[in-house]
Amino acid sequence: MQAITYHGARDMRLQDVPAPEVEAATDVVLRVTRSTICGSDLHLWHGAMPSPETGFTVGHELVGVVEEVGSAVHTLATGDRVFVSAVLGCGSCPRCRRGLYSACAVTTAGGTRSNVLGFGSAYPGGQAERIRVPFADVNVFAIPDDVTDEQALFLTDILPTAYMAADFARVEAGSHVVVFGCGPVGALAQRCAQVRGAARVIAIDPDEGRLALAGKRGCDVIHPEKENVLQRVLELTGGEGADSVIEAVGRAELVSQAALLLRAGGVISVAGVIVANVDLPWALFLLKNLTLRGGLVNPQQYAAQLLALIQGGRLDPSELITHRMPLAEGAAAYELFASHADGVLKVVLEP
Ligand SMILES: [Zn+2]
Ligand SMILES: [Zn+2]
Repeated sequence: MQAITYHGARDMRLQDVPAPEVEAATDVVLRVTRSTICGSDLHLWHGAMPSPETGFTVGHELVGVVEEVGSAVHTLATGDRVFVSAVLGCGSCPRCRRGLYSACAVTTAGGTRSNVLGFGSAYPGGQAERIRVPFADVNVFAIPDDVTDEQALFLTDILPTAYMAADFARVEAGSHVVVFGCGPVGALAQRCAQVRGAARVIAIDPDEGRLALAGKRGCDVIHPEKENVLQRVLELTGGEGADSVIEAVGRAELVSQAALLLRAGGVISVAGVIVANVDLPWALFLLKNLTLRGGLVNPQQYAAQLLALIQGGRLDPSELITHRMPLAEGAAAYELFASHADGVLKVVLEP
């Protein structure tokens, strides 16, 4: 079958690889109907998060149709339209039982990032024609008839990531929330903050096109290179500072900057994948009683409530899709997504 495979920085290739089969009784094999490229796939592509292995199939955001079902899978049947959790849990270890599927003792046995689909050979990804998903009763979810494949595609990772960020940020009715970043995760974090009742969502991004879209989404917008961010945030929050800041870019220095923008008792919630150490202005944390939260998403925890918000018309993450390309053009799709050219926000790949 055809798959996009990793061969080092800026080297994704379309290759013919063996089609997956059910290996364990708890596995399913899906025929992938759509996949998409994530900002964290770009960490591989840019070489910021290099993998010691090469040749594995990439991609962790996908939807498909169940084609083969292991004998111990109880919740799925052949022909079901499904989305997957990008982060795999076993469902039975003590960490999974606490909802921390991303830290699963069983699926991370090969290393801390081995349980994200498409980041190594342990669990090859979904930018392919087919994929094997382990512990299917825990990690694969049926898509209701009134939710489209393109909406469900976002439930694999970035919508729960954005919602968890708003949850960690304690966004509630009347909150003033700053969101660093208007890329895919930032845009959905803005939407999730709005759905949770934020009075004001302040979006910051140097990309003018993305900033303009945030304005259309109902956010107040700040261009960080043309405006004084602190001054504008104070103006927009009655001089007090924001209740919370969501970091949705993945840059360590924004976590430090966030501390300046918060009111006393405020919260920094990190959604971006930061691969460097963070230098914290501890005096501000001490004097303002700030809280810092973050973590790898557990999409399983949020699947039911986010499906309900989509079904109720409160969220439509498919608004982010700007490009659709055949899987065969996947390598070019990486170049496009990395370049920010042509207003790209989310590229959907169709096998
Ligand atoms: Zn992702
Ligand atoms: Zn587990």
